[in-house]
Amino acid sequence: MDLASVRSLNARDTSEAPKYHLRMPLSPDEFYATTAAVADEEGRTTLSRMTAWEIFPFEQDGLRVVPLKAPELPETPRRGEGGLPCASCAATGRGTVWQDDHWRLITFTEPSGAPLVMVLLPKDHFDLTDLPDDLAGELGRLIVHTSRAIESLEHIARAHVSRWGDGGAHLHVFFFARPEGFVQLRGTCLAIWDDLLPQTPKDVRDADAMIVARALEASYGGEAITS
Ligand SMILES: [Zn+2]
Repeated sequence: MDLASVRSLNARDTSEAPKYHLRMPLSPDEFYATTAAVADEEGRTTLSRMTAWEIFPFEQDGLRVVPLKAPELPETPRRGEGGLPCASCAATGRGTVWQDDHWRLITFTEPSGAPLVMVLLPKDHFDLTDLPDDLAGELGRLIVHTSRAIESLEHIARAHVSRWGDGGAHLHVFFFARPEGFVQLRGTCLAIWDDLLPQTPKDVRDADAMIVARALEASYGGEAITS
């Protein structure tokens, strides 16, 4: 099936769709069909240009694209929704290096490959799209202040900021510190390199996290938490 055929399947009248509830251009089945139309007999698509980029962490030799699975609807609930417990609500305080009345900034128990990975969460159970406006304003300022503090660390070139939200329904914004001088670690693949590179020494990671926490305390407010 080519894309034109898929589009014709999707010829639906959206003129009466209310604002913010416009239909997706492609339904899950139609989205799947566009991939199936170009995949080989095993359902695999060809390697993309990205796999030749200098930031891509794997060599092309022997690399294969995983077949795209058919859509599963309804989706499995995330942690913290559909009656599943919310680890972020339950784990109050664990790993916290900074907090104020509404937010916590945490590090994970074990360091990973990036020099510093931090996560910003609201104390109450909100996802990004149901965050009240006052907290949304605070989130914007906290992303800026936290990024500024991370980028002020010696030998750190960039703070990468990410929100995916597919595992847990409780908003969690990631900050990945990208080490200076490593062109290969630029961009989105740092989140994969983070899992491939050896762990940053814990004492170094913790010291950097505390510098960020104290900088946030000074520039934004709240309190740094020394363990
Ligand atoms: Zn929660």
